[in-house]
Amino acid sequence: MKTIGLIGGMSWESSALYYRLLNELVRERLGGLHSARCLLHSVDFADIERLQATGEWEQAGEVLAEAARGLSAAGADLLLICTNTMHKVADQVQAAVPVPLLHLADATADAVRAAGLRTVGLLGTAFTMEQDFYRDRLAARHGVTVLTPDAAGRAEVHRVIYEELCRGVVRDSSRAACRRIIDQLAADGAEGVVLGCTEIELLIQPEHSPVPVFPTTRLHAEAAVTAALSR
Ligand code: GLU
Repeated sequence: MKTIGLIGGMSWESSALYYRLLNELVRERLGGLHSARCLLHSVDFADIERLQATGEWEQAGEVLAEAARGLSAAGADLLLICTNTMHKVADQVQAAVPVPLLHLADATADAVRAAGLRTVGLLGTAFTMEQDFYRDRLAARHGVTVLTPDAAGRAEVHRVIYEELCRGVVRDSSRAACRRIIDQLAADGAEGVVLGCTEIELLIQPEHSPVPVFPTTRLHAEAAVTAALSR
């Protein structure tokens, strides 16, 4: 089994989910007392959030690149950035290390295509929904068309992520708001919805959506375990 290196803490609420999923998936696949070989570098999310808000992405990327170097030196065979948003700096992180970075958008797009879908709605931070680093990867590399909520919907999802989910708060009222946003995306033609923030699956489950959901933390963990167990 290869060792999975996690660049996490963004937020730790979803990193905890990554840790659980990696171990559950290895146990499912290997049985017995098997568990995931993994290393975690968990950052202080307040530092990263400040750099996001001020647009200092290169500096934030250097923090993650330094974490990647440490994980690689400590024996990680592959790396995960445990947040969709920070894939904005994925190239910078990959350039810092000799080991492969398993890109979250690729794992997600593979699942969307495997389900036979081409058009999906995307929920995530404003950075993920509005900038091109994530949507373009889905579109240009994988032929997946991405629909995003209207401005009010995007603001609401972004608020729920930073003010609630990243602080461990899960509210029924926010679930109801997200459900209305998902219903609108489906009405607009989304055949599925990418939960493109690693905390959203703490709030939204398949039964909350009229179309299939693609939970990116789970999909990323599944892709990582498949890679870790491959020869
Ligand atoms: N975990 C979130 C994501 O997947 C948001 C936190 C962050 O900005 O990294 O995008």
